[in-house]
Amino acid sequence: MSSRPPKVPFVNLSLQHQPIQSQIAAAIGKIIQEGDFILGQALAEFETAFAAASGVQYGVGVACGTDAIALGLQACGINPGDEIIVPANTFIATIIAVIQAKAIPILVDCDPETALIDLTAAETAITSKTKAIIPVHLYGQMVSPSQLLDFANHHKLIIFEDAAQAHLAEREGYRAGSVGKAAAFSFYPSKNLGCFGDGGMLITNDAEIAEKMRTLRNYGAPSKYLHTEIGTNSRLDNLQASILNIKLPYLEKWNRDRNLAAQHYNTLLEPLKHKGIVPIANRSGSGHIYHIYAIEITEKSSLAKPSKRIDRNTLQQKLAQEGIETGIHYPVPCHLQPAYQNLGNPGDFPHTETLCQQILSLPMYPGLSNTQIEQVVRAIERSWKR
Ligand SMILES: *Cc1c(COP(=O)(O)O)cnc(C)c1O
Repeated sequence: MSSRPPKVPFVNLSLQHQPIQSQIAAAIGKIIQEGDFILGQALAEFETAFAAASGVQYGVGVACGTDAIALGLQACGINPGDEIIVPANTFIATIIAVIQAKAIPILVDCDPETALIDLTAAETAITSKTKAIIPVHLYGQMVSPSQLLDFANHHKLIIFEDAAQAHLAEREGYRAGSVGKAAAFSFYPSKNLGCFGDGGMLITNDAEIAEKMRTLRNYGAPSKYLHTEIGTNSRLDNLQASILNIKLPYLEKWNRDRNLAAQHYNTLLEPLKHKGIVPIANRSGSGHIYHIYAIEITEKSSLAKPSKRIDRNTLQQKLAQEGIETGIHYPVPCHLQPAYQNLGNPGDFPHTETLCQQILSLPMYPGLSNTQIEQVVRAIERSWKR
C-alpha cells in the first residue's frame, strides 16, 4: 500500500521546476550536443552572473559548498594549525571544511533569539593563533555586516562567509557574500538556488584569491600539466551550471515569495507567543531569504500549564499525524556528535544546545500557499488540545 502524499510537504521543488522545465531541457540538450562538460562556457557565464548578482567581482564554481569553504580558506591563505572561529550552531559542513583545510575550528555560542553567531562570545575565543571568523548566515539571515566588520577590523581577522543558506540575502545594504574577503555558497538541490545534484561556489573581489581557487579546484594546475599547488578535483559541472543559469533570474522572486510566506506565518503565530511558541527573530527584515522558517518551542510552553505540556518532539509528531512535514535544523549540536567530541563538552554552548532541543522548521518554499500556512498554524494550535 502506498502512503498518501503529505498534505503540506516540507519542500516542493517541482513547483519551481515545472514552469521552466522546457528551458532547462533545452539548456541540457545544448551541452550534450556540444559535448562541453568540464569548465565550459555555461560555467563561466554562471560564475560571472552569480558573483555579479551578489555584488562581487569573481566567482569560482566547485563541486559542493563544503569544498567552497575548504578550498576557499586555503585560497585566502589559511595555513595548517590556524584557528578559525565558527558558530557552534551550524550545519556540520562548516566544521568539516575547516578541518579539511587543516585549520582548527574554535566554536562559539549563538544569540538565542536569532540563532546566529554571538560576536561577544566570539571575542573571548580569540587567541594569538586566530586568523579568521566564519559567520554562517543561518536560515537565510545575514549576520550584521557592520558588527562583523567592526569585529574583524578590530581583531585583524579575515571574514570568510558561509553563505550556503543565504543566496542574495541582504542586510544593511550588503548582499550575502560581499562582506568578507571571500564567501562560499552551496547549490545543493534544496538550497534557495539549487542545481540537480551537488554544486558550490566561492565568490570574492580579490583577483588573486579567485586565481588560486581556480588552480586548487583543477588539480592545482594554473595551466595544463603545470602543478603549482597540491589542489584537488572539485569543479562545478557545466551541465549543472547550465541549469543554474536558467534558474538564477527567478531567484529574487523566489526569495520574495519565501519572505512573504514568513510574514504570513509571523502574523498567524503572533498569538502563540504567550504560549511559548516563538519564531526565530528576523533582524534583517525583507533581506531575510528564509531558507528555513524556524520556530522555537520554548521552555515556557511546557511550564506555563503543566497539564498541557508540549515539547518539540511531541509537536513534530502531532503535525506529522496531520500530514504536515517539518524539519529540525539541527537536532544535535556539532560538538556533541560522535566524531567531533574534541570540539567541546555538554554545557559548553548552552544557547546552541537548547535550540537543538527546542527548534522546529516549518514547511517553507516558493509556492507554499497562504491556505497551507494557515493549515500548519491551525494544526499547531490544535496540538495542545489533543
Ligand atoms: C548546505 C550547507 C553547507 C554545505 O554545502 P554542500 O553543498 O552540501 O557541501 C555548508 N554550510 C551550510 C550552513 C549549509 O547549509
